[in-house]
Amino acid sequence: ITERITVLGLGAMGRALAGALLAAGHDVTVWNRTPGKADGLVARGARSAPSVAEAVEASPLTVVCLLNNASVHETLEPVVGKLAGRTLVNLTSGSAQQARELASLLGEHGVRSLAGGIMAVPPMVGTEGAVILYSGERDLFDQVAPVLSPLARPHWVGEDPGFAALYDRAALSGMYGISAGAIHAVKLIHAEGGDVETFKREVLAPWMELTLPLMVAGAVVSEEVPEEYNADMQAVGLETMLATSAAAGVPDELAGHLRASLWVMRRAAQAGQVA
Ligand code: NDP
Repeated sequence: ITERITVLGLGAMGRALAGALLAAGHDVTVWNRTPGKADGLVARGARSAPSVAEAVEASPLTVVCLLNNASVHETLEPVVGKLAGRTLVNLTSGSAQQARELASLLGEHGVRSLAGGIMAVPPMVGTEGAVILYSGERDLFDQVAPVLSPLARPHWVGEDPGFAALYDRAALSGMYGISAGAIHAVKLIHAEGGDVETFKREVLAPWMELTLPLMVAGAVVSEEVPEEYNADMQAVGLETMLATSAAAGVPDELAGHLRASLWVMRRAAQAGQVA
């Protein structure tokens, strides 16, 4: 079924979102602060609205993808009256608290809303593997998810409007942890004259692939880590890694993930001793 959908914000991500909705056959209206960015989408059948007010009035559903929370408020607050009775999905990255505040402001004006976190870069939009996390009322998600599924697989993470942002930030934290570890590893190899490409291909990639599910499963909130973790042994190993890194002249700032792990293992070892 063709749905009328408005997209506010035509940066790299907004253009990808609007393009995927057009490709799915929807009736898309777009708006961007700086004119000119709609041209390619208009050539593909989108309508370009001259103002935010006209853009939001064009559709029962508006998707927002702007730079940050401040730009969302700057753009939406003057037209919030026109959004009453409509649905808004905010896919702009922000904090959980910002998402809660926006949902509550919109709710006060009769606007139903979902918050989203895009787990993809623009070229991935509309392709398999891309996911958008949504939070907000479940029945609204159930209505909106089929319409927005051409963007990415919709995945609801809870009623709390802040949860999409929370899950998104936490997932990125996991990703940056892996990234930091990989960067530190190749610097260490390079500093001691090893061949980085061979190391990556033959050792690091297969090792990471093997250990990643174990690391995710083993990430526990409590300090009572399973006995087979042998926290004492791991703490000793981490100290050796830090010493190796320092001796190779790798900047200490790049070893933060090792210090974080050492902190966890020492705490786990202490907790084990108490028990
Ligand atoms: P861009 O920098 O490409 O685009 C930013 C958009 O915000 C532009 O449309 C810009 O308009 C608009 N904008 C900025 N300030 C204002 C303002 N004060 N009032 C109105 N409009 C404003 O960013 P992206 O499109 O890449 O990202 C958009 C959102 O998507 C961000 O929150 C980002 O974190 C999120 N995201 C992006 C990903 C990516 O890989 N790109 C991945 C996942 C999430 P103008 O053209 O007038 O400057």
